Amino acid sequence: MHCTTDGELKVFRFERLATEPGLAHVVVARPYNYAPHRGVGRENALAARRRVCELLGMPFDRLTSPSQVHGPEVLAVEAGDVGRGRDGRQTAVPFVDGLICDRPGVPLILLSADCPLVCVYDADRPAVGAVHASWRGTVAGAAENLVRQMVRVFGSDPGRLLAAVAPSGGPCCYEVGPEVQRIAEGRLDCSEECFRRRNGRLIFDLWAANRRQLMNAGIGEDRIELPGLCSICDLRFWSHRRDGDEAGRFALFVGLCG
Ligand SMILES: [Zn+2]
Repeated sequence: MHCTTDGELKVFRFERLATEPGLAHVVVARPYNYAPHRGVGRENALAARRRVCELLGMPFDRLTSPSQVHGPEVLAVEAGDVGRGRDGRQTAVPFVDGLICDRPGVPLILLSADCPLVCVYDADRPAVGAVHASWRGTVAGAAENLVRQMVRVFGSDPGRLLAAVAPSGGPCCYEVGPEVQRIAEGRLDCSEECFRRRNGRLIFDLWAANRRQLMNAGIGEDRIELPGLCSICDLRFWSHRRDGDEAGRFALFVGLCG
């Protein structure tokens, strides 16, 4: 990813997606917290969201968000959904972790503190989608479902999609208990690639698991950007694993240019 700074604001952009003229996106992280409902600095989250929308040239009023319940569900943004979740989780589109959208000028926001945020872009339609793929969402197939919804709703050709996975807990740090592996083994077809033992610790490689799902859904490996930035050991990001309940949330903003 490219990283630029604007005052204290650090702005990360995926290298391939940044070259797409029809798409606006950023990942933004510490010191600002983009979640109004939790973590240090939450009282300034709406101001921070507004500032990023201005940076993107997108209307803050139309900022739209899924409620993020650690599941695999993805819905298309309908007219009545535009602006839901702009001011916080209580008004976000319920029951879903991902949204897809073919409406220009509707920025989506997804929040994370270690969970992968997976983004896909169809320049042909055009349409965009993003999903919060926590370990539970990853095991439940969130990224694969994201692509399938793009195909089903927008007629996207998966071979033409571009995908990217935002900074998140990496295989250097993301330790889990044996139950997670046992649950995942029944659901994922990549258990050897996804789980390994290191120094007595069991590591869940969320990046490999999400890349595998995107590939299973038809996206070529060379069209998937994995920046390799781990939110747990890279202090520029918020990390629930590292900071506990005080952790803020970093955010992916993505939308079609108006
Ligand atoms: Zn790490």
